[in-house]
This record gives sequence, C-alpha cells and structure tokens, in this order.
Amino acid sequence: MRTTTVSERERHEQASETLARLEREFTGESLFAQPGTGRREVVVARDLTRVYGKGDAAVHALAGVDIDITEGRLTAIMGPSGSGKSTLMHILAGLDQPTGGRVSIDGVEITRLKEKKLTQLRRDKIGFIFQSFNLLATLTADENIVLPLSLARRRADEAWRRTVIEAVGLQDRLTHRPAELSGGQQQRVAVARALITRPAVLFADEPTGNLDSRTGGEVLDLLRRSVDEFGQTVIMVTHDANAASIADRVVFLKDGRIELDEDRMTRDAIYDTIKNLEVPR
Ligand code: ADP
Ligand code: MG
Repeated sequence: MRTTTVSERERHEQASETLARLEREFTGESLFAQPGTGRREVVVARDLTRVYGKGDAAVHALAGVDIDITEGRLTAIMGPSGSGKSTLMHILAGLDQPTGGRVSIDGVEITRLKEKKLTQLRRDKIGFIFQSFNLLATLTADENIVLPLSLARRRADEAWRRTVIEAVGLQDRLTHRPAELSGGQQQRVAVARALITRPAVLFADEPTGNLDSRTGGEVLDLLRRSVDEFGQTVIMVTHDANAASIADRVVFLKDGRIELDEDRMTRDAIYDTIKNLEVPR
C-alpha cells in the first residue's frame, strides 16, 4: 500500500489552496460581481432619452430610462405600441444613439464609441434575432449559422458549433437554403446564428411575431434553454404575454418610461398589466 508522508499532504493542501485563491481572484465572478447577487450587469443604461423630430413635432420616444440587465437572465420588454420598445432596444444594442444618457455593454460605454469600434463591438458582443429572420437567401443553413464568425474571420469552435446545432435541432437541415425551410426552422437558424459567437447579450425583437403559436413556442423554448443551459443573457422585445411569461423579468414601458419592472410573471398577470397600461392616462 502507498503511504503518504505528511509533507506530501501538506504540499498538496497548499497547492489546492493556491488554486482556490487564484480562481477567486481571476474568475469573472470575483472581478465583476455585484455585492450580494454573484452576477454582474451586462448592460447598464442611465437616463436615456431619445427625441425624434424638432419643436412642436418632437416625439419623446424615451423620456428618461434607467435599466440594468443582469447576466444569465431572460428579460422581456413589453408595452403598448409606440411606448418606445424598439427605440430602447436599438439604443441598448448600439444600433441607434440616444439624444441623452449613456449605455455600457460588458463594461464598454458604447455611447462614446466611433462607428468602426461600435461595429466591432456589435459583432463581438451582441447577437440579434429579428421578427423576419433576416437570413441570407443564397447561403445554406450551416453557412448562415457561422456567418458572424466568417465575417469576423474567426473559426468556429467545432464542439460549440455542434452543441448549438443540436440545441436548435437542425442537424438534418444544414445544407438547406432558407427558402427550403419552414418559418420555425428559419428562426431556429437565426437563434443558432445568434448563439454561435457566445455574445455577451442576445437581443430578440418580436422573435415569435411571424410564427404560429406552436413554432413560436419552440423558439421560446430555445431562448429559455439558451439561458438555462448556456447562461446566455437575453433581452426580448415582445407584445405577446405568452412570450413574456418565459422571462425571468418583465419590464413594461409606457410613453417612453419604465412603468413597471417585475420578476417572473404569469401570462395572466402580464395580460392584465398590459390591459391596464393601454388605458390612456
Ligand atoms: P414601440 O416599439 O413600443 O412600438 P417605438 O420605439 O417604435 O415604439 O416608437 C416610440 C415613439 O417614437 C412612437 O411615438 C413612434 O411613433 C416614434 N418614432 C419611432 N421611430 C421614429 C422615427 N424614426 N421618427 C419619428 N418618430 C419615431
Ligand atoms: Mg416596435
């Protein structure tokens, strides 16, 4: 039988202590954690305003929005038509500049970046899913999925690529072009394309808007799984109470302001809240 000397055991213990300390010091958690939550804020927006037009015709699409988005959660943004949802999403994603206020993504203040740096940051840190899928018609499903990597001249991590393709269930459709896929399959390609770069945050704008309820449900399941299984941070704009009921947090906008900000809500509670918000003040 093998005997362990005291000094060997001591060395071993010392080594594990050192490892544990290094882990504490160098993991993102210890560097970025908010006290108490153990999770960091991936998107931070302060005092956002967005005015369209001038003078009497000015529309205050955002009238002072503060929002923090915690990593690894699914946040739904809801509100009546014209309440500022799209404007907010475009500004948080660096697709539009606010009139006032600031936005940081993954610690970088995007509202100060020049177009070239901003384009690079969007490519590296942000994934998008649109209502209308936005796939390239001439590319196969597989080519569409890895497109963000091709554009960034990055190679796909094979294991991750396989994981993502399996997660969206498109193993048998990889050589098909968008026209040969159903709407639900096309949106699943779009989800895979958004996940392939492991973005700091994935924005989804009405991702189920063009789908029937069954395929819409499949896409929602996928978004939920990307959060639960891959720790993906997701922000979803939707006016569908059913879609928002999969979220960890539901933020309601009205007239360019946050009217209500709640953790997990049932479909019925969301539906009632929307009805109340739609009553003019
Ligand atoms: P939502 O997505 O919640 O429907 P939007 O963010 O699209 O709301 O719009 C918020 C307000 O800003 C609305 O009153 C809308 O008419 C106005 N708006 C949006 N985009 C423009 C634009 N490009 N020019 C002028 N007004 C706009
Ligand atoms: Mg909109």
